[in-house]
Amino acid sequence: MNNLGTDVVVAGAGPTGLMLAHELALAGVDVVVLERLPVRTGLSKALNFQPRTAEMLELRGLLDGAEERSFATVQDGHFAMIPVDYHGWDTRFPFQLGIPQASVEAYLEERLAAQGTKVLRGSEVIDFVQDKDSVSVRYRTDGGEAQLNAKFLVGCDGARSVVRKELGVDFPGVDGEGFGVVADVLFDKVPDGAQKQWRTMRNIGEPTGETTFKGLIPLGEPGLYRFIYGDRASRPADMRSAVSHDEVRQAALDSYGDSATVSEIRWASRFSDAARQAEHYRVGRVLLAGDAAHIHFPAGGQGLNLGVQDAMNMGWKLAATVHGWAGDDLLDTYEAERHPVGAQVLDNVAAQLGLTPRSRESRALRALFGELATLPQVSRHLSGMVSGLGVRYTTYGTSHPALGSRLTDQEVDTEAGPLRPSTLFRTGDFVLLTTTPAHVDAARAQAPRLTTQLVTELPWPSTEAVLYRPDGYACWVAPTPTR
Ligand SMILES: Cc1cc2nc3c(=O)[nH]c(=O)nc-3n(C[C@H](O)[C@H](O)[C@H](O)COP(=O)(O)OP(=O)(O)OC[C@H]3O[C@@H](n4cnc5c(N)ncnc54)[C@H](O)[C@@H]3O)c2cc1C
Repeated sequence: MNNLGTDVVVAGAGPTGLMLAHELALAGVDVVVLERLPVRTGLSKALNFQPRTAEMLELRGLLDGAEERSFATVQDGHFAMIPVDYHGWDTRFPFQLGIPQASVEAYLEERLAAQGTKVLRGSEVIDFVQDKDSVSVRYRTDGGEAQLNAKFLVGCDGARSVVRKELGVDFPGVDGEGFGVVADVLFDKVPDGAQKQWRTMRNIGEPTGETTFKGLIPLGEPGLYRFIYGDRASRPADMRSAVSHDEVRQAALDSYGDSATVSEIRWASRFSDAARQAEHYRVGRVLLAGDAAHIHFPAGGQGLNLGVQDAMNMGWKLAATVHGWAGDDLLDTYEAERHPVGAQVLDNVAAQLGLTPRSRESRALRALFGELATLPQVSRHLSGMVSGLGVRYTTYGTSHPALGSRLTDQEVDTEAGPLRPSTLFRTGDFVLLTTTPAHVDAARAQAPRLTTQLVTELPWPSTEAVLYRPDGYACWVAPTPTR
């Protein structure tokens, strides 16, 4: 056994673990990522960035690289396959970016390597022991077992998280009763009516019976589609069994008749409608994020996005704790802020499943809901839920509209000309936007790593300064003094 030392061990190099490692490395934290798989699978469950994830990547200057790897720009989102519009939100990204999960992982891993942090592949976390000062992580490699001591361990090791199980944290929820299949299918003859390019969620998927559903998402290569089908009321005896190509061919025939012909099935996998959330996201020096903390039916395209947003929330807090700039109370706000957001996603997914047209009543409810979703305010509410744009943290109270709200990235006027505030977040520091230097000291007292920008005006009345956290949420404001 060798005995290395590091600040933070991240278990799992999925999107959540890689994003977290990126945030930690940016903040100067020594981080080691342990990944069970010797090589990336190159397969993609998720296919999208929601607007809030795009905003967050833009804060770090990571969006350009992601855009280059994207295969579609999708003008809306969906709730139970009912399209919802993002334009009611003040965002520069009122759309989903179509990007395969494998590209997200490859890109984040490249960015991480550029920061000098490598993923240790073929390294499977077995268990750990923590005391008040450190955590000792045991993992399996080709050469046997190894051990790594760290100040913190973060379980980003997916739905079957070993870290969560070893931590003894409950994972309450439901097992569900249905199943779905995703298959990347190359059609010789594309089904009638299928979109050629993924531009909208309209007509992408639909219920096909009381509990069955199907969908087709064009993947950017001619004839190549993500074919999704399933049944909410029954499931195979073994959910982990491989999906046979015959099964997928039969499902395509059942769904689209012989107007469509399948030439190749590149990949297929099953998923379930289980929904569970870890009771706690932190116990001592061990934390959970992403699918290790919450799982749900992939309705609305939310899971990967939720994990990346967890990582952005935790990264700077953990870095501040490791560096000794903050105490336990700051790290505790990770669970306080993100657990309710995860619970809300599980609830909205349950509501989406509730709109399955199982009966005359639920068909009528679904039709009514579809009509309601065309109302701008309803659409805004729903798209805010599935995208993360609607998240507002109440940690700092709600006495001012900026507090706990996200940076909307409207241009601000500075002496040097107009500026996008997002460009100030590249270093991962706090950002103070202020109309007067008088507030710099007060902000610095709360934020040791601070970028200050003098602006001529702020988008809120009677406000002289707003302090943003590294993840782009306002945590302090200075009202204009009354004279
Ligand atoms: C069919 C399907 C479609 C989906 N579509 C979407 C979508 O369109 N949009 C969306 O946002 N989300 C979608 N999701 C959800 C999304 O894929 C997940 O939420 C996302 O993968 C979670 O990322 P993660 O990094 O938390 O976990 P994972 O992606 O599961 O990554 C965990 C990593 O940890 C590694 N690991 C596991 N155990 C260990 C161990 N003991 N030691 C070391 N490493 C370990 C694994 O090998 C893996 O690399 C979909 C999910 C499914 C099933």
